[in-house]
Amino acid sequence: MIIPHINPDGDAIGSSLGLRSVLLSMGKIANVVSPNGFPDFLKWMCGAGTIVTFDSEQQKATELIGSAQVIFFLDFNTPSRLKEMASIVDGVDAARVMIDHHPFPENVVDIMFSDTSASSTCELVCQVIQGTGLTDYIDKDAAEALYTGIITDTGALSYNSSNPATYYVVASLLKLGIDKTKIHERIFNSNSYSRMQLLGFALSQKMVALPLQEAAYITLSVDELNRYGYQDGDSEGFVNYPLSIAGINISAFFSPKDDLIKVSLRSRGEFPVNLFSARFFGGGGHKNAAGGEFRGSLNDAVEHFKVSLSDFYQQWKNGTL
Ligand code: 5GP
Ligand code: MN
Repeated sequence: MIIPHINPDGDAIGSSLGLRSVLLSMGKIANVVSPNGFPDFLKWMCGAGTIVTFDSEQQKATELIGSAQVIFFLDFNTPSRLKEMASIVDGVDAARVMIDHHPFPENVVDIMFSDTSASSTCELVCQVIQGTGLTDYIDKDAAEALYTGIITDTGALSYNSSNPATYYVVASLLKLGIDKTKIHERIFNSNSYSRMQLLGFALSQKMVALPLQEAAYITLSVDELNRYGYQDGDSEGFVNYPLSIAGINISAFFSPKDDLIKVSLRSRGEFPVNLFSARFFGGGGHKNAAGGEFRGSLNDAVEHFKVSLSDFYQQWKNGTL
């Protein structure tokens, strides 16, 4: 049983499907159950069509999880990242293995591979497989999925990717004949016309700078999303754009998801958005990429953000965090 975190991204899906392919090559039975769905631009990976989503197929997901002998937790390190699925997983009598690169792992597994210096969970999955002598079971399907997570978590090897170890893993995946150009096209150049228009609108009309905190934020309401024919995943990555402005080192993106406001946070340099998110938005993540949520209106979320950032930023600057 392989489980990624809720709202799985390229690294969560890539590591899950990569490990699935490896286990299938070994003759094991392997299933991926995700707490919810994932964006279309990841659906070309081998096995993507077999992923069972808990929110839309509860009974099937519960049965599959219940029959597991080994459960892999991939790209998350606390059961809270599974939301409602956590209690189902918690009740199963199975061995648990965590492979993850987020800070502050919870000791809820039998075997933990946790390395915050890894670029991605996909990199770590490769190292675990290679380090346990199972390299030959990584086939081309697995390699494509694992390469995907490395490039989605590093902005195509631009950040979090200065460790030579990452490139040894990439080299080993390239040796399996993956088409790197095609994967980049599918991940980064498969935007829909409407997503590009939504991005244009977000940047020109909805981005607000907070110069005193070197920050900028973007909000998109349900009405605004619908105006551009919003599909799941369409606003993925919008939070990164403000960081390409000189002098902006903290970025936030707010939009409604289900009955909450989902918050995405990014920084460059030393500002710890994971600590900020944990303190003010019930979330977490990495120093430079984190997320959280807010219960209330979009406007209230932004007000809460401005007040808490002003305070937190000052403490961080003064070294009194
Ligand atoms: P994103 O902004 O792309 O959703 O997430 C950025 C990073 O923060 C990812 O590493 C993701 O796993 C983590 N993250 C996002 N939302 C949450 C959250 O609500 N809680 C925690 N603990 N981590 C989150
Ligand atoms: Mn990751």
